Amino acid sequence: REDTDMNHLLDMTSTRRSLLKGMAASSALIMLHPFTANAQAKQAHLRIMETTDIHVAVYPYDYYADAPDDKLGLSRTATIIDKIRAEAANSMLIDNGDFLQGNPLGDFIAYERGMKKGDEHPVIKAMNTLDYDCGTLGNHEFNYGLDFMFNVLKGAAHKYVCANLTKGQLASDPRKDDLFLKPYLIVDKAVTDGAGEDHIVKVGFIGFVPPQIMVWDSKNLEGKANTRDIVEAAKAWVPQMKEEGADIVIALSHSGIDGHGETEGMENASLYLAGVEGIDAIFTGHQHLVFPGPKDFDNVPGADAVKGTLLGKPAVMAGFWGSHMGLIDLLLEKDGSAWKIVDFTCEARPIYHRDDNRKVVADTTDKAEIVASVAAEHQATLDYVRTPVGKTSAPLYSYFALVADDPSIQIVSIAQSWYIKDMLKDGPHKDLPVLSAAAPFKAGGRGGADYFTDVPAGDIAIKNVADLYLYPNTIQAVAITGEQVKNWLEMSAGIFNQIEKGAKDAALINPDFPSYNYDVIDGVTYQIDLTKPARYDKDGVVVHPESSRIVNLQFDGKPIDPGQTFAVATNNYRAGGGGKFPEITADKVIFVGPDTNRDIIVRYIVDQGTINPSADGNWSFAPIGDTTVVFETGPKAREHLAGFKGAKIEDAGEGSDGFAKFRLTL
Ligand code: MN
Ligand code: MG
Repeated sequence: REDTDMNHLLDMTSTRRSLLKGMAASSALIMLHPFTANAQAKQAHLRIMETTDIHVAVYPYDYYADAPDDKLGLSRTATIIDKIRAEAANSMLIDNGDFLQGNPLGDFIAYERGMKKGDEHPVIKAMNTLDYDCGTLGNHEFNYGLDFMFNVLKGAAHKYVCANLTKGQLASDPRKDDLFLKPYLIVDKAVTDGAGEDHIVKVGFIGFVPPQIMVWDSKNLEGKANTRDIVEAAKAWVPQMKEEGADIVIALSHSGIDGHGETEGMENASLYLAGVEGIDAIFTGHQHLVFPGPKDFDNVPGADAVKGTLLGKPAVMAGFWGSHMGLIDLLLEKDGSAWKIVDFTCEARPIYHRDDNRKVVADTTDKAEIVASVAAEHQATLDYVRTPVGKTSAPLYSYFALVADDPSIQIVSIAQSWYIKDMLKDGPHKDLPVLSAAAPFKAGGRGGADYFTDVPAGDIAIKNVADLYLYPNTIQAVAITGEQVKNWLEMSAGIFNQIEKGAKDAALINPDFPSYNYDVIDGVTYQIDLTKPARYDKDGVVVHPESSRIVNLQFDGKPIDPGQTFAVATNNYRAGGGGKFPEITADKVIFVGPDTNRDIIVRYIVDQGTINPSADGNWSFAPIGDTTVVFETGPKAREHLAGFKGAKIEDAGEGSDGFAKFRLTL
């Protein structure tokens, strides 16, 4: 008996050795995953890989900056996919949604080229080279309408699942819901076990989209679709998957991780989804964060950000734009006729790292096949971002953004208000007046004398929008009182030095206060009294409680009511407490949008055709009399001085480091 056992063991070892030798030979320098290296007979290592939130980032290229970017691109991730597949005896690849929208390549196809019958969308073309096993829908798939989306999906070589998107009304029983897509897919996956034997494992994939698409894309979905709570849909469909013989059930959850308690219809439900019986592993996304890993999910009860578990089950979130591959490695064991998971590991593997100087270093190269598959569309998109999509009737420059109401901030505010009014119009906040806060991102400072927004009147191209809105922030709105609006502005006004009446050529700007924290609020009118000290320091600490720089603050032509509630459109940075503005904290947030402020500006320009961003002069300095101050700005400001009406400004010669100096009479 011993002999037989020994022979069997030797057999197994040599089979595995030859299997491993074959794998190693095909790709040198591959580190085999321990599950593949150590799997026994009737044990199979199954690696499932995730891409998520690709947002049409096929090329490693930032179309707004019109420059290459090593932090993104499916062409880069794809190279890792090949390597990662080679580390495991058995692998599958899934996509977790938000592939269709989010960069100018996506906008180009949707707004310009269109999708004729039989057209293949570039992101699908790229994905089709990678042998995906299944995909699910993200919220952004709906941005261009249902017809567009389904047209795109037709080109995919893999199937899509979504268990909580219905046609028309929800049924009384989720299993009777009339769904747009199949809720789940069960794949007969051929796997090789540790002894080199082949088996079939029935791998089930079930997909979920955030129910909030009904708000975010109401114009595309109203009357055509509905969404069901993610956890509720899972509880209904997972048992049916098990009845149909799924050995393991994998959730493709285009939804993030939020540990603040389960609520009906919640957006980021992946933690509670993990609690559904029968689900074995969860691919997450939507939040554009990384799990497992440091920082992002350190203190979420129920989540283990080191091991990569949600309520003890394996889970990953693979960043965004192809920044990471999400890996869930399962060691499966045949138990009678069924397979069970006996061990797992989770990893989010990046495509780049930062060196000691925080400089981005690419960890991988492009996959030639992907680059080639989309080369024509990439070139067309370069042309698209460089050609006009609309017109501006006024020049958009930020040279005087800190001394007078300014067109480069005005256009951001107009677009934000346009969007937020639409988003709030049918909800509980529909009666709140909408104000909008925006700051000059490019206003010299440490960026240098050329670091300004400068778009001439006339044609406006997509790439100019990056000049108007530098950061990929996302839109949010807060509900605050008139008094809090005033304090927001008091905080902003901290960028100015205190000026004595009668001063001559006093320095106006406090260089330690960053311009991106100089929020102008549109929708109200106000003046700033520079003779008073700033109420707040740059960390939001009250230093002069009695002081009030903001004077004549009016809404609708009357003094603002400190008790009235307003909705203020802003971005995720400010609404989340960025810049430490007094009382502007996450608990004031009433709307969290899925869109970048930059996208909203593009949509606004495409929608309007011609924009008229002339500053409305809603703020100014209160006149002091017999006083002048000086400030530095880009020397190109001189070209705009003659046409500038916002304040009394004259050229005061050269400043430091290539800046030009100007004098403002107060
Ligand atoms: Mn996304
Ligand atoms: Mg204005």
